[in-house]
Amino acid sequence: MKTPRLILKPGREKSLLRRHPWIFSGAVDRVEGEPADGGTVTVSSSEGRFLALAGYSPRSQLRARVWTFDEREAVDAALLGRRLDAALAYRQRLQIDSDALRLVYGEADGLPGLVLDRYAGLLVMQITSAATEAWRETLIELIAARFPGQSLYERSDAEVRTLEGLSPRVGPVLGEGSWQTLIQEHGLRFHVDVATGHKTGFYLDQRDNRRLVARHAAEAEVLNCFAYTGAFTACTLASGARRVLSIDSSAEALAMARENVALNGLPEAACEWREADVFSELRRLRDQARSFDLIILDPPKFAPTPAAVEKAARGYKDINLTAMKLLRPGGWLATFSCSGGVTADLFQKIVFGAAVDAGADMKIVMRMGQAADHAVALTHPEGEYLKGLMLYRAG
Ligand code: SAH
Repeated sequence: MKTPRLILKPGREKSLLRRHPWIFSGAVDRVEGEPADGGTVTVSSSEGRFLALAGYSPRSQLRARVWTFDEREAVDAALLGRRLDAALAYRQRLQIDSDALRLVYGEADGLPGLVLDRYAGLLVMQITSAATEAWRETLIELIAARFPGQSLYERSDAEVRTLEGLSPRVGPVLGEGSWQTLIQEHGLRFHVDVATGHKTGFYLDQRDNRRLVARHAAEAEVLNCFAYTGAFTACTLASGARRVLSIDSSAEALAMARENVALNGLPEAACEWREADVFSELRRLRDQARSFDLIILDPPKFAPTPAAVEKAARGYKDINLTAMKLLRPGGWLATFSCSGGVTADLFQKIVFGAAVDAGADMKIVMRMGQAADHAVALTHPEGEYLKGLMLYRAG
């Protein structure tokens, strides 16, 4: 059977020639044949030049995602297997000091819309594209063959699935039993629940930053905002923080954070926990004239879509401004944004605006990003989402 064809409008092949893996609906002139959801299409320019083989997503603005730019390659189990092996080989080279890591990061690993994470003995997969959804059974077999006997859970419940016309799918795929596990990271241990945790269970992307932030924790009075299950709380305590106040709106997350502090034999007496909204709690701390030596702001994605960037910018400015007012001169602010739509440049501008309004003299000590197991393909800069600034308050 002939592969259906997706033909681009004149001049719209440029990004593909530069190996960008996404084809937006606005660039498509016509489709010949009847590709299935996620089925393979041959992408060609208006002049009939071969550009790529891609997985078709009829309902999405992101109409097709490239599997290969090589005309001689077939989109089949062997190709997926090669991509998986390359992704695993890369992670082995990284020698990450943790048994929890991202093994596959979607487009960056040539597997568009697939995430595969490992949490000690548990694997978690997430599919967010119709292209990869079509290969789900094959992928499960390929994963099982590479990790014999390991349990695999599916967390395909990311919001973006709806854009592809896919409904959520969550549950055990291989193996059974407990979906809670213990992981270790930089010598600390953490409880992770892959069935109920955020994302696939834990914020693996912040691994390196936890270590960088902890450098400034000795003897410090720390404020950890958006603490989730206490990863920054534990690593700052382990590095000698005097006290850590952790704020999160989720009671379940904070309960697990307390367990994580206990699990590592860290002093519960040095901890203060607040189940609260960070926006209002920061103001309350300000009214109480509290101050800190190290403040961590690691909020959730404020801008899930490009349209939400402006509102998100106001949110980032608000928390950064109030946090700077709570920061003692000589103190450190580690501030993050995981909104893809907020560029590093824009984020710096927002933080700058906050410093001006707070009357704080701040220096950028270091720029931070997502950990190397979330590496970004140069051809696909959209894969970069996490950025952070380590700031020093000079006055
Ligand atoms: N720093 C964490 C990850 C933070 S994820 C880590 O390294 O593991 C974001 C957290 O913010 C979630 O736990 C969520 O419950 C919490 N959250 C979201 N909105 C909030 C708000 N307005 N106030 C307080 N917590 C909030």
